Amino acid sequence: MSIRGKVALVTGASSGIGAATARKLATEGAIVGLAARRKDRLDALATEITGAGGKAVALPTDVTDLTSCKAAADALITQFGRIDVLVNNAGLMPLSNIDSLKVDEWQRMVDVNVSGVLNATAAVLPQMIAQHSGHIFNMSSIAGRKVFTGLAVYCATKAAVAAFSDGLRMEIGPKHNIRVTCIQPGALKSELYEQITDATYRRQMDDLAASMTYLDGEDIADTILFALNAPSRMDVAELFVLPTEQG
Ligand code: NDP
Repeated sequence: MSIRGKVALVTGASSGIGAATARKLATEGAIVGLAARRKDRLDALATEITGAGGKAVALPTDVTDLTSCKAAADALITQFGRIDVLVNNAGLMPLSNIDSLKVDEWQRMVDVNVSGVLNATAAVLPQMIAQHSGHIFNMSSIAGRKVFTGLAVYCATKAAVAAFSDGLRMEIGPKHNIRVTCIQPGALKSELYEQITDATYRRQMDDLAASMTYLDGEDIADTILFALNAPSRMDVAELFVLPTEQG
């Protein structure tokens, strides 16, 4: 399988895993739609990719809003006629103890990490069904497999992403020839910790980062490419990717 000429929509493309994945897909010849809220970041990345000979378009998007996700998908369909890949990557991780009752942060995690995945999936599915082909990647986490103190709500959202991925794969693989891959990374260097407003957890995560060599976004971009390049008869349903030093 080659992804040259394929059309991909990457959410959370303004930093971290999403930006690295967009760069990687464009380097491999895909046309990449860059979706996130920070337009300046998306414009800069689109310019960088285009300058390197690739193809990318900035699509300012809020994944919590279904209409916004549909507008991003429609822009790709109008310009390029299809959508072959969706990388459902946008996410937030503001950690805190439950008894701190940071309910606004809980809600934002549910909105972005869960509803965002559903919205972007709903936005691309009609086109993928019409094409009878496609590949959807859902970014879960090690936190979707086990629960950590301070991460209860985040873990709940990432477990939801893993459950949705599996159900989605069972329904749309056999019927519509659409592959689904759930990715569960361990600790990774990105801007994710900047969302943490609880000083104790922020320090704890900074200490964890100092204690081992983390993954970086490119490692996950390579993982996505591995699943994309698999023969069409093969759906890499789940990938659990950890720093070697993470227990
Ligand atoms: P970053 O903070 O670097 O990236 C998060 C991305 O999500 C940003 O591009 C941000 O863009 C986007 N985003 C946030 N809210 C919205 C929104 N409402 N609409 C659209 N985009 C939004 O973190 P990572 O790259 O590390 O995280 C990417 C994914 O990987 C997340 O789902 C995260 O949970 C998951 N993950 C990360 C791990 C880690 O250790 N870093 C480990 C396991 C999983 P903008 O603000 O411009 O909208």
